[in-house]
Amino acid sequence: MKSEKTIVLPTPITDSRLTPIKFHHRDKRYRKYFVCQCSCGKTIICHGASIVSGNTKSCGCLAKESRANSRLPNNKGVITQIILGIKRARKIEIYHMI
Ligand SMILES: [Zn+2]
Repeated sequence: MKSEKTIVLPTPITDSRLTPIKFHHRDKRYRKYFVCQCSCGKTIICHGASIVSGNTKSCGCLAKESRANSRLPNNKGVITQIILGIKRARKIEIYHMI
């Protein structure tokens, strides 16, 4: 077993929800993975560089929340229904033409 040198924990970007706790492992490409604590309470294992770059800002809860806050939260289903209705109507038209 090779002894690991002391690995410095990555510094997350300011709006990150993750706090690196400890080094977890290195993958085949020698990329470092860290155990991170998300502000929601979840613990995830995350690639060090993506914590620093801001590619990974949360355990996934941030993406869920921003999706929930997107512009058409309630209308989306309605719009889908309308589009499906139009498509269905077209199919019927084509059916009658044949
Ligand atoms: Zn989270």
